Amino acid sequence: MASSTKRDYYEILGVSRNASQEEIKKAYRRLVRKYHPDICKKPECEEKFKEINEAYQVLSDPEKRKLYDMYGHAAFEGAHQQNVETNIPPIEEILREFFEGVPFDFESIFERATGRRRGRRRGRATRGEDIVVPVEISLEEAFSGTTVPINVERQVACEACGGSGYSSSSVRTCPTCGGRGEVVQGNWFFQVRQTCPTCGGEGSVYEPCPECGGSGTTTRSETIKVKIPPGVRHGSKLVVEGKGHEGRFGGPPGNLYILVNLKPHRIFERKGDDLYVDVNLTFPEAVLGTEIDVPTIEGKEVKVKIPSGTREGSLIKVPKKGMPRLKGGGRGDMFVRVHIDVPKYSAFSKLIGNGKKAEELLKELQEVLPKPKRVVER
Ligand SMILES: [Zn+2]
Ligand SMILES: [Zn+2]
Repeated sequence: MASSTKRDYYEILGVSRNASQEEIKKAYRRLVRKYHPDICKKPECEEKFKEINEAYQVLSDPEKRKLYDMYGHAAFEGAHQQNVETNIPPIEEILREFFEGVPFDFESIFERATGRRRGRRRGRATRGEDIVVPVEISLEEAFSGTTVPINVERQVACEACGGSGYSSSSVRTCPTCGGRGEVVQGNWFFQVRQTCPTCGGEGSVYEPCPECGGSGTTTRSETIKVKIPPGVRHGSKLVVEGKGHEGRFGGPPGNLYILVNLKPHRIFERKGDDLYVDVNLTFPEAVLGTEIDVPTIEGKEVKVKIPSGTREGSLIKVPKKGMPRLKGGGRGDMFVRVHIDVPKYSAFSKLIGNGKKAEELLKELQEVLPKPKRVVER
């Protein structure tokens, strides 16, 4: 547009040449509500709003405004043309800019600005939140795998209102403002327009849904059977997709996470896929060697050979008697950790029926046993 035919920016916004930034903003906001193509569907509004938008961009920027005041439209022509954006931003963007940094309910501002109610169902789709539930299982259950019933309280869309939070049959024009969204207060001398206190500017009132109290969601108790695979580890997180809280406005549901806790076992200690079990041997058993029965995790027993000369703390490996491997199949190993039982001399008579005889035999043994090297060499 040639500068001669262009309207004055101040005139377009309807403000004086010495208007403050605040006044310019206010004027623009008023014009957005009137002429923005998202609101005004008349064909001439778009052209008009382009003009308004351009004027606002220049006058709201102190640098550009200074140039405009000095040179008029010529300041932005030719080489400087790119300084002014001529595309119209969507109304959401404009409103967001105005309210940036201020917590606000965008839906209701949109409704106030446009006088239209956006279907709440068409609000921004949000994914439902995840639910995390800890479960405690025994080592035996982790060994064989199990199915646990998990009780969850899931948030789901309220069926009565379809998630909108209000019953659509109750929507009626606001009796206070007659649907205009604002009220005029004062007397013949002094009048103030304000947002209607009854409807908050929406122009309509409605009853919150009696089922959900207006939240749009209800909680539903559900029992979900979760399969826990054999070999599951302590601290494992299992996921059941889509069984978290339901999404809002058509968003996808969250997930259900099962946090597996293994109860400590009475006799087995688990390290990875291996199991450790502690056994006590008598001194003669350790010296002569023997065969003992050791319990296994599947509830059976296995014969384990103790070789002659087994020392305190030795580990005897029993292959493939550990936990099932989660990946790749097979099983870990079981390790038998050996301890030598050493009764206290003074307690012999109480501990052993033949206390006196044991004492004599030990003294005799002491005479005949080969003496060990007292100090161990490295
Ligand atoms: Zn409801
Ligand atoms: Zn009202």
